Amino acid sequence: MQDCIFCKIILGIIPAQKIYESSDIIVIKDISPKAPIHYLIIPKKHIANIQSCEKNDQSILGNILLTAQTISQQISQSCEFKLVSNNGKSVGQSVFHIHFHFLSGGGDYLENSPV
Ligand code: 5GP
Ligand code: ZN
Repeated sequence: MQDCIFCKIILGIIPAQKIYESSDIIVIKDISPKAPIHYLIIPKKHIANIQSCEKNDQSILGNILLTAQTISQQISQSCEFKLVSNNGKSVGQSVFHIHFHFLSGGGDYLENSPV
């Protein structure tokens, strides 16, 4: 996808701090963190959001949650975290390549956010 920031990061055209990579997923640090630990779990396949997923994206969607488990274990065995995915402009999605925010490390945002 020519104008997609996350596709450019996946291709190495735009730099990012990569935390983890598998055959179908990358995890990077968010450029504008809202918590002490703020990562983005991003599938390598360009899918705009959950509304655009198809049946055969099932394994990618499952792997996103298992990746959250993997990176939490890398932080610590007792790591607690929040996963957030914005799906649509009206709810705050700004990059239209599906991703999950992995938020951890405490702070007001995590304790007081509505969900
Ligand atoms: P959304 O608003 O779509 O839920 O989340 C997009 C996230 O991508 C935002 O938290 C924003 O800070 C992050 N972001 C936008 N551009 C870049 C970038 O070039 N590099 C990185 N690492 N994060 C980005
Ligand atoms: Zn993309």
